Amino acid sequence: MMNKISQAQEKFSYFDLIPLGVCVLQSDYIVLFWNSCLEEWTKIPRNQILGTPITQIFPHFGQPHYTSRLEQVFQGGLPTIFSSQLHKYTIPAPLPHGKNRIQHTTVTSLPGLDDDYYALMSIQDVTDLTFRVQEYRSMRDHALAEAEKRRLAQESAEAANRVKDEFLAILSHELRTPLNPILGWAKILKSGKLDQNRTIQAVNTIERNAKLQVQLIDDLLDVSRILRGKIKLNLSAFDFASVIQASLEAVRLASEAKSIQIELQLNPHTGKVLGDANRLQQVVCNLLTNAVKFTNAGGKVEIFLEQINSQLQLRVRDTGKGITPEFLPHIFEYFRQADASTTRQFGGLGLGLAISRHLVELHGGTIMAESPGEGQGATFIINLPVIFVPEKEIQEAKIDNGFPSLVGVKVLAVDDDADNLEFVSFLLEQTGAQVTSVTSAKAALEAIKINIPDVLVSDIGMPDMDGFQLLRQIKTLPLQEGTSIPAIALTAYATDADRKRILDVGYSHHFVKPITPDEFIEAVANLVLSIVRS
Ligand code: ADP
Repeated sequence: MMNKISQAQEKFSYFDLIPLGVCVLQSDYIVLFWNSCLEEWTKIPRNQILGTPITQIFPHFGQPHYTSRLEQVFQGGLPTIFSSQLHKYTIPAPLPHGKNRIQHTTVTSLPGLDDDYYALMSIQDVTDLTFRVQEYRSMRDHALAEAEKRRLAQESAEAANRVKDEFLAILSHELRTPLNPILGWAKILKSGKLDQNRTIQAVNTIERNAKLQVQLIDDLLDVSRILRGKIKLNLSAFDFASVIQASLEAVRLASEAKSIQIELQLNPHTGKVLGDANRLQQVVCNLLTNAVKFTNAGGKVEIFLEQINSQLQLRVRDTGKGITPEFLPHIFEYFRQADASTTRQFGGLGLGLAISRHLVELHGGTIMAESPGEGQGATFIINLPVIFVPEKEIQEAKIDNGFPSLVGVKVLAVDDDADNLEFVSFLLEQTGAQVTSVTSAKAALEAIKINIPDVLVSDIGMPDMDGFQLLRQIKTLPLQEGTSIPAIALTAYATDADRKRILDVGYSHHFVKPITPDEFIEAVANLVLSIVRS
């Protein structure tokens, strides 16, 4: 045998020079020759395999569909090809990459050194194909994953669109609903047939509904600001209890109408909060409004305020409809309501709590909701950090908030909307200001030429010449040197972009209609004071 093997090495040595696997078997499957290429592919050195049956290493060659064909080769039959077989090698030595390999094995009969035939197996390793198959598979998997991603993205876009559509439907309903009583009562009032009591009732209804609409629009603008990260806080130090008291006013009527008892337990020894009092009042109002809204007539709402270490804790507990465990985790999400009919039944867009959470977090606080379940009431808890403020600063803040009279101050008011103009003029006159009111920018320019006002209060959207053009025109007027007219814009353009444009053109303040009278007068007063001081 050794002799045979060494003869074979000599005879087939040239097969060591080619990049094909070559081996020679004798009819009992004993390996007589194993070239260097095979050594490299299989990591089986020839001294380990020569003289042993190939089936020990590649058992599949012992399977009938191979043996039957090999038998023919050993008898000098036609060449045969074991083609494109995918084999998992069962050899001890690790195969490159440990992968399955594909081989094309051509088996040819070879006249032996004696009278037998040998089988010359030339093995073409096309393992590369394996990688290509794998590449193809991973490409396919990737494509499938991408398609799945696209499907999910589309689904979520569709869901977002559905939410948007539903939202727009709710929105238009919400904006329209308060218009019915406003327009209805306005028409009846115009007929002049209402007695005094009914007139007061009608005006109250109109006012309530108009306020509701203002609230809705404010909510939407807040959401837009939050989404763009544009909320600004006017910081001051204040007693949180005062915020609660102010918020109570907002729900007093609603709670009285439903005979809901509101109980206050405010610990007087709580520290102050540094924050935006108006924004925090908005949050508390939202909690109280919800508590009253979702509690049946005759129920109870309790408000607790206490200090726990360096945190102020507000708890609003109601005996109302409660929150299901399924809905509880979503309660602070945008446009979330326990059920769509809520909107129809109670009004609201499902924005209040999302806005509240954002505002509380902006103040470094937390907000959470608790409820034992449906019909069992709910508790909302806000924690806010308490600050230490020197007494002096608090007093200074109070003095700054004083409300000066405007006696002797000349104000020019411009608005093409007669009702608004009348209201603003009336408000200013209440403070002693001397008001000239005109209904167009052109008339304002004429008025300035005759008598230069201390302050200009102007609408922005006006026909012919708008508030922007008006301010530009004023700058070109041949006024006495050093004369400038401070101006306040009073407009329905409420977005941040509008605000920026308005301030950019030279207005010192931007008030969105409907204005809060106190804030407006204070701004006029401060403007006059700042001119006097400078
Ligand atoms: P809105 O009140 O405008 O619907 P909110 O964001 O303030 O929006 O509230 C979202 C939802 O959370 C409400 O529609 C209601 O389903 C639920 N919710 C809020 N407060 C309470 C409460 N006190 N009791 C029961 N459910 C509440």
